[in-house]
Amino acid sequence: MNPSNMHPALTTLSEEEELFFQTVKEFADEQIKPREKKMDEQASFDPGLIKQFFEMGLMGIDVPEKYGGAETSFFMSILAIEALSSVDPSAGVIVDVQNTLVNNAFMNYGSEQLQSKYLPLLCEKKVGAYALSEASSGSDAFALKTRAVDKDDHWLLNGQKLWITNSNEAEIFIIFANVDPEKGYKGITAFIVERDFEGFSVGKKEDKLGIRASSTCELILEDCKVPKESVLGEVGKGYRVAIETLDEGRIGIGAQMVGLAQGALNEGIRYAKEREQFGKTIAEFQAVQFQFAQAASEIEAARLLVYNAARLKDSGKPFVKEAAMAKLVASEWAQKISSLMIDIHGGYGFTKEYRAEKYFRDSKIGSIYEGTSNMQLQTIAKQILKE
Ligand SMILES: Cc1cc2nc3c(=O)[nH]c(=O)nc-3n(C[C@H](O)[C@H](O)[C@H](O)COP(=O)(O)OP(=O)(O)OC[C@H]3O[C@@H](n4cnc5c(N)ncnc54)[C@H](O)[C@@H]3O)c2cc1C
Repeated sequence: MNPSNMHPALTTLSEEEELFFQTVKEFADEQIKPREKKMDEQASFDPGLIKQFFEMGLMGIDVPEKYGGAETSFFMSILAIEALSSVDPSAGVIVDVQNTLVNNAFMNYGSEQLQSKYLPLLCEKKVGAYALSEASSGSDAFALKTRAVDKDDHWLLNGQKLWITNSNEAEIFIIFANVDPEKGYKGITAFIVERDFEGFSVGKKEDKLGIRASSTCELILEDCKVPKESVLGEVGKGYRVAIETLDEGRIGIGAQMVGLAQGALNEGIRYAKEREQFGKTIAEFQAVQFQFAQAASEIEAARLLVYNAARLKDSGKPFVKEAAMAKLVASEWAQKISSLMIDIHGGYGFTKEYRAEKYFRDSKIGSIYEGTSNMQLQTIAKQILKE
């Protein structure tokens, strides 16, 4: 086993978890790392890698075996996201959305009929996407304007979604629409839409600062016909599907940011051990060592917040506050640490010759998607004030 693939926080993991982390990290180093730069430049994720995600069971980590999943735990999904993101945060978010948002929503709210129809596809070959945001409703997600009308034998959906991760590759979409705007958020309903449904199309792809290989597109629904039975959960209860799924998803984004920060730190240390100034490597300067020590401590603290939230979720205990804290802290520190690692690289860090600048660009998304940092603070404040 290559020591660089060892998990840095060995004591908190079981043997099975440690082995799983190492396997995913090794795969990321061998298969993703050599393609990462080109995928970033071309803003496109290699479909061969997605195929490998399915083959490795990474697209259905905690889905029951009877539906084709690996039936391990939510925590294992978190480890996979962390390991992948330490090499390429775009890879991390593809696996993150599939497991923590799409599969989880099906597992928590899908009828037996919907679970047995869609979960095997999601575990074995089809990418999923989760579409809540719109041009005029991001943080204020429940102000969404997409409408669903009951046409007796089917639903008719009209509207546009924006910023939808995985949508270039996805074939199964969870789409939130309002069936009765007069009822406000109590009209919001979650629908399952397949890519080839009449009236559905994937629109413009965003040209982004970071996680460029992860696709982010607009979705267009123009008289999109959706079967009557394709409602996830109950009609009018989609707001709960949205909130509760995102509570879980946030832990995944925390894991993405922890992995990213660790990857950036590793690059910084590697460079500092090679780069010589004043007749010695820069890693020999105590000031530089202290910068690494500070970063390593912050990563470990963020990691423990993420792991704690994931373990709470797996054990059926409340985790909303802990998930928000984990995402808030991990994403803010990932930005700070990846920025510092550019400084460690000096002028070279500012160029595309080294991986430091990509980690920095990729880090910016952590404090925006699945609820901005202000939204996490709002959640945490609500929880601590009611305690
Ligand atoms: C790359 C990428 C991928 C994404 N993937 C998905 C996806 O797969 N599915 C999906 O549904 N969405 C997705 N999103 C959308 C994302 O969740 C939203 O961008 C995010 O929730 C913020 O919404 P907004 O962009 O409308 O910003 P706004 O809500 O307009 O926020 C702008 C600023 O105002 C602040 N603000 C807003 N309201 C308040 C308040 N009440 N108090 C204090 N501050 C406030 C925010 O913190 C932020 O700083 C993605 C976005 C990006 C960029």
